[in-house]
Amino acid sequence: MAVGVLALQGSFNEHLAALRRVGVKGVEVRKPEQLDGVDALIIPGGESTTMAKLAHYHNLFPALRDFVNEGKPVWGTCAGLIFLANKAIGQKAGGQDFIGGLDCTVHRNFFGSQLQSFETEISVPKLAEVEGGAVSCRGVFIRAPAVLEAGSSVEVLADYPVSLDKLKSVLPDIEGQEDKTGTEAKVIVALRQGNILATAFHPELTSDTRWHTFFLKMVKEINAEGSTQSSSKSNL
Ligand code: GLN
Repeated sequence: MAVGVLALQGSFNEHLAALRRVGVKGVEVRKPEQLDGVDALIIPGGESTTMAKLAHYHNLFPALRDFVNEGKPVWGTCAGLIFLANKAIGQKAGGQDFIGGLDCTVHRNFFGSQLQSFETEISVPKLAEVEGGAVSCRGVFIRAPAVLEAGSSVEVLADYPVSLDKLKSVLPDIEGQEDKTGTEAKVIVALRQGNILATAFHPELTSDTRWHTFFLKMVKEINAEGSTQSSSKSNL
């Protein structure tokens, strides 16, 4: 299996190193034709506006959109999540093209600037599916986005508590978010929609490779489904 890592800007080397640690070949992707040779793609964290400009320069957007729309597995971390979201709001949002495909509204820099970057423990029950069995992971949030709303086909893998006031200040018409006390709300920080996995934080900046293992499991499942479909088609 070959996993491509979009290598225009940001933490692509860290993803490549994590893939090496789990024994999988990572391939740097900078040109559209390089997508033909990979089974899956990771879009790293970084600065999404800069990454989008570079993607334009290399004429990557049509091939990236085809890759996602064909159902190939894609994982976006942080800026990579912004790249995959159907709608981006917040600081500096707008004006640039992204890939889209993930039915959600993401708020760029939701948690603030570099100074408000933080690390915290995140509960992720689905991680129990991969080795280790623990259900929490270290979340490294760097000028991180948050997903404020997601469509019904999206599976929420992890959320994070924020004040309802903070959420309403960026999305006034949000509904159904009040908890019992009416002061707390939640934003989504890890999610999956079919072939798309996205995290607002940076697993590649920790020594924990369970997210990479989780993604590779997803890749294998999607590939197995694909080959069953094509073999059943060829049987027709
Ligand atoms: N805030 C950045 C952006 O909008 C993303 C930060 C990150 O990837 N660590 O592109």
